Amino acid sequence: MEYPETHTKMTFKDLQLNSAMLRVVEGVGYSQPTPIQTRAIPHILEGRDLVGCAQTGSGKTAAFALPIVQMLGRSPGRRRIRALILAPTRELAAQIDEEFGKFGHENGLRHVSIFGGVGQQPQVNALQRGVDIVVATPGRLQDLMNQDYIRLDAIEFFVLDEADRMLDMGFINDVKRIVQRLPKARQTMLFSATMPQAIQDLSKRMLTNPVKVEANPQSTTVENIAQSIYFVEGGDKRDLLKHILQDPASQRVLVFTRTKHRANRLAQQLNRARIPAEAIHGNKSQSARSRALSKFKSGNTAVLVATDIAARGLDIDSVSHVINFDLPNIPESYVHRIGRTARAGASGIAYSFCDVNERKFLREIESLIRQPIAVVDEHPYVSAIAAPQPQPPASKPRANNRRRRSRRSRKTSASR
Ligand code: AMP
Repeated sequence: MEYPETHTKMTFKDLQLNSAMLRVVEGVGYSQPTPIQTRAIPHILEGRDLVGCAQTGSGKTAAFALPIVQMLGRSPGRRRIRALILAPTRELAAQIDEEFGKFGHENGLRHVSIFGGVGQQPQVNALQRGVDIVVATPGRLQDLMNQDYIRLDAIEFFVLDEADRMLDMGFINDVKRIVQRLPKARQTMLFSATMPQAIQDLSKRMLTNPVKVEANPQSTTVENIAQSIYFVEGGDKRDLLKHILQDPASQRVLVFTRTKHRANRLAQQLNRARIPAEAIHGNKSQSARSRALSKFKSGNTAVLVATDIAARGLDIDSVSHVINFDLPNIPESYVHRIGRTARAGASGIAYSFCDVNERKFLREIESLIRQPIAVVDEHPYVSAIAAPQPQPPASKPRANNRRRRSRRSRKTSASR
């Protein structure tokens, strides 16, 4: 069966969702399906295995969760785990679990998220009370399987979410081990923002005659975002950030640094400058991460400083700005990062700081997104050293002059 590719006129009803699910969708306030939902939901409801090329922010969770909840139907008296979703990070697992909570409530479905970094007992208790849906990271899931708290022999639906990130984080062998324990007769869905060869190989092993759907998330997301680049010396980045944060429009700002250490240090420095900021990264305890996230979501802290892995999959509504304090050395990460400011079709603003050592990352990013990023050349910390040499040199101010000018304007701004 062919499904229309334009999603503009499609409704959730056109996607074969039943009346109970349509009420659920209305209840959560989704008026129209996103492209990945339009393309994936009907196939999943037909029982097909599916490979979805989509990233977080595209609405992919609902793309698999809505049809799975519909197919699970009302929970039978005796509960067995019938749907398993694997996610690479705790935050993503918690968010997916939350969505299942919203969508599965009316059917009386029970769900639990299983991840490390917190005590296992509450998770074990939930499992022992009986659940229909488990959303898990691979490590803790295997721990609990090895202790016989989890049986996967009744799984009907299996989702591998953010498969490329699973690969990056070294979870692929764990995933393969878990898949070996699943019944052969099941429906499998694999979602990934990118499709490197290793993921294609994995999908051949794990899925049966899958339908492939794509939501072209990278270009659409990037198109909605106003992106700019600030050439700045490494030592001036912090002052430039503070300068940008003075703008009242910077209300909820997600800042990315290259390392956990830099995230911590920057958050401390911002707090010392009376800019409430929290850091979120993999060395923080689960409770510290959740606390930081909820303070940011509620608007109590304006700035969240994150590393790539910590921010992966975070569902934060209305981030006003994404600021790449450090440019990522993997160009795809740039697209993932700035996607935080353009959730489900909203537009956003992304600023990137680039020092002289990061110019090659910038070139790779611009080649991935197939567009140059606009340069902000009027700011108090302009660095002629970081900026590529002007072409042709004669028609532009000399580097030294630009540098002197920038120092002067810095003074002016500081005295304001
Ligand atoms: P995801 O890509 O699953 O992380 O979803 C990103 C965000 O979009 C989440 O906050 C969802 O609740 C939201 N969302 C998903 N589907 C829709 C839709 N059809 N309309 C509006 N928002 C949606």
